[in-house]
Amino acid sequence: MASYLKIYKGWKVILLLAAVLMLAGCGSGNSENKVVAGKVNVVTSFYPLYEFAKEIGGEEAHVINLLPLGVEPHDWTPRSQEILNTSKAQLFLYNGAGLEGWLDSFLKGLGNDSKVKTVEVSQGIALIASDEEDGHGHAENDHGHDHGHIDPHTWVSPKSAMIMAENIKNSYVEVDPAHREQYEARYEQLHARLQQLDAKFTEELTKTNRKEIVVSHQSFGYLCRDYGLTQHSIMGLTPEAEPKAQDLINLSKLVKEQGIQYIFFEELVSDKLVNTLASEAGVKTLVLNPVEGLTKQQEQAGENYFTLMEKNLQNLVIALQ
Ligand SMILES: [Zn+2]
Repeated sequence: MASYLKIYKGWKVILLLAAVLMLAGCGSGNSENKVVAGKVNVVTSFYPLYEFAKEIGGEEAHVINLLPLGVEPHDWTPRSQEILNTSKAQLFLYNGAGLEGWLDSFLKGLGNDSKVKTVEVSQGIALIASDEEDGHGHAENDHGHDHGHIDPHTWVSPKSAMIMAENIKNSYVEVDPAHREQYEARYEQLHARLQQLDAKFTEELTKTNRKEIVVSHQSFGYLCRDYGLTQHSIMGLTPEAEPKAQDLINLSKLVKEQGIQYIFFEELVSDKLVNTLASEAGVKTLVLNPVEGLTKQQEQAGENYFTLMEKNLQNLVIALQ
C-alpha cells in the first residue's frame, strides 16, 4: 500500500511539473510579444532601448523588444507580424543614425491609420561622421543597410546613453502625461546610475597609459570620443563589412609598433578575424562588448547595460595599462 502511494505521489509531482513547464512555455512565447490593454505599449528596436524603456516605464509600460536574443542588430530585418504589432502600440523607439537599415520600409509599413508615436532616440547626440573609406563597409549594401557616413553606435558611451534615456522619458510623458511623475522619478534613478558610470569611465580611463584600442567592428566611436581613446577596427561599421588583406597587415603592423597587448572581440560576432590578427601579432584577446544585444546566457545571468559596461571598463583598463 505504502509503495503504491509513493508511486501515485510521484506521478502527481510529474504531472504538476509538466503543467508548470507548459505554462512557462506559453509565457515566454507569443503573449509577451503582443500589445496588451491597460498599459503603454512600447516597441523597441534593440536591447539598450528595451532596458531603458523598461526602467523608465515601470509598471505603467509593457515593453516589447523586436530583436530576438543573441541576434546582432545590423543583421536583422522585421517580419510583417512585427510591423502589424508595432502599429497597435503607443510608442516605437528606434536608435536612428543609420542603425536600423530596415527603418524606412518599417515606418511606411505601419500605415496611416496607426496612432503609434515613433521616436528617434539618438536625437540630440552630436553624431560622428565615419572615416570609413569607400570600398569597405557601406559600399556593399546587399543586406539593405544604408549606413551612409554616420556611426550609429551612440549608446556605447554613457554620455550619449544619458541623452537617450532623457528622450525615452520625454516620449513616455508625451503619450501618457497622467503618469508624468512616475516617469520622471524612475528616469532620475536611471540618470543617476548613468552619471555614476560616466564618472567611473572618466576617472579610470584618464589614468591609463595607452589610448589606442583594436576592436572587431567599428562600434566604439562614441566611447572613444567621450573618454579620450582611439579605435582601430578590423571590420567596418557593420560586422559583415569584411576587411581587405592589406588592412589586416596594416593593423598587425600597428599592433606591433604601438606595443598593443590585447585585441578586443565581441560575443555576437565571429572572433575568427580577431584570433587571426592576435596570433599573427602575438597578442592576447579580451571582450569589449558594444551592447547591441544579450546572448541567452547573458540574459539568464541577469546581465544588462550596466554590468556589461562595467566589464568593458575593467577590460579596457587591463588592455590600456
Ligand atoms: Zn554595430
